[in-house]
Amino acid sequence: MSHVFPRHTRQAPPVAVAGDGCYLIDASGKRYLDGSGGAAVSCLGHSDSAIIEAIKTQVDSLAFAHTGFFTSEPAEKLADLLVANAPDGLDRVYLVSGGSEATEAAIKLARQYWVEKGRPEKGRLIARKQSYHGNTIGALSAGGNEWRRAQFGPLLLDVSHIAPCYEYRERAETETAEEYGLRAAQALEDEILRLGPDTVMAFMAEPVVGATAGALTPAPGYFKRIREICDKYDVLLILDEVMCGMGRTGSLFACEQDGIAPDIACIAKGLGAGYQPIGAMLCTAEIYAAIEAGSGFFQHGHTYIGHPTAAAAGHAVVSAILERGLVPRVREQGDKLAARLTERFGQHPHVGDLRGRGLFRGIELVADRDTKAPFDPARGVAGKIKKAAFEAGLICYPMSGTIDGKTGDHVLLAPPFIIEDAQIDELVDKLDTAIAAAV
Ligand code: PMP
Repeated sequence: MSHVFPRHTRQAPPVAVAGDGCYLIDASGKRYLDGSGGAAVSCLGHSDSAIIEAIKTQVDSLAFAHTGFFTSEPAEKLADLLVANAPDGLDRVYLVSGGSEATEAAIKLARQYWVEKGRPEKGRLIARKQSYHGNTIGALSAGGNEWRRAQFGPLLLDVSHIAPCYEYRERAETETAEEYGLRAAQALEDEILRLGPDTVMAFMAEPVVGATAGALTPAPGYFKRIREICDKYDVLLILDEVMCGMGRTGSLFACEQDGIAPDIACIAKGLGAGYQPIGAMLCTAEIYAAIEAGSGFFQHGHTYIGHPTAAAAGHAVVSAILERGLVPRVREQGDKLAARLTERFGQHPHVGDLRGRGLFRGIELVADRDTKAPFDPARGVAGKIKKAAFEAGLICYPMSGTIDGKTGDHVLLAPPFIIEDAQIDELVDKLDTAIAAAV
């Protein structure tokens, strides 16, 4: 009997024993093509010797030193590298152990900022439906995924959730993409005015929505307008790039492609590439200065913040992404993956939408292409795709979810940046087999 949980299936999962480039290998020797990098984590594949070496070297000299007493060279180097390559204005880095810790810290930093500025009435957070920001209480409160929130209602913070930017389902036939983007962004201004601008501290969103929506990209101009609205009402913009950041969409930070910079950014997943658990929150000099001038320090902390070994891995990963030209490679291989998906599924009777950026791709499945009607949730289409793909030796990330009864099933793809052309073909073939088995 296994004493390990969670179990995502009633049946015992296979035991993973090794990684080899884009593949994971189980105890029986079966190989699985990692088409989703776990959940957009393993951007360098599973056997990158440079990262492994960097971790070994760090552990040999210093595995851990508590930030209550010390800083460390890898933490300083990683922060410098991130700031040098981050969108304009992001100037300070708080290193944590994962995505939820980064978003949780962002929510608290936003709140502390307004307290330090002498505006304690600013305490309300606005986020979006159909979003995921993590599983700790604050992060879960920010997320709009109804299924994940369902059991925890009484524990959650009172966060406002506006409609997401969801062109496939929400754009009117009479509207251009740009017009829809502006209309979708208007929901933020409406909500700020409804709550009272003096009470709103921050707006949190994923630039490209990952787990809950399948690589849902914003309409052109949407985030530019969001940025303007935040500036107009003194509302901090927190961008959650935990999934879509670190090169995944074809730029180091996804928001670069929307031409904006946030006040606070959260990253994780691809930052450690799975070699170490690490995340980070970046904020502007202005926010940091307010904290410094006020209480003097951010009233937060976990034992493993700034962990030297994790930071050494993060530094090696970001260096690899930048020095090996992986960001342009993501664009190139991402275009190829998108083209193969369009060839194979563009006319598929149960594929409603193909979307994404770079090597972050989503497929929305529908019962009827013309009406966009989703499958009956009782059919469990996403779960069946996951199972059939796994049997065929493909790891992909199917999900089902609903907002206001509208969304159905989708598959998220986020393969390693090192994926070769032949592996893109293998991914699409196996996915085709899995979808055929499920719908
Ligand atoms: N934000 C986003 C956008 C995510 O996709 C995730 C994880 N799927 C998180 C936050 C939480 O990250 P973690 O699981 O590392 O806590």
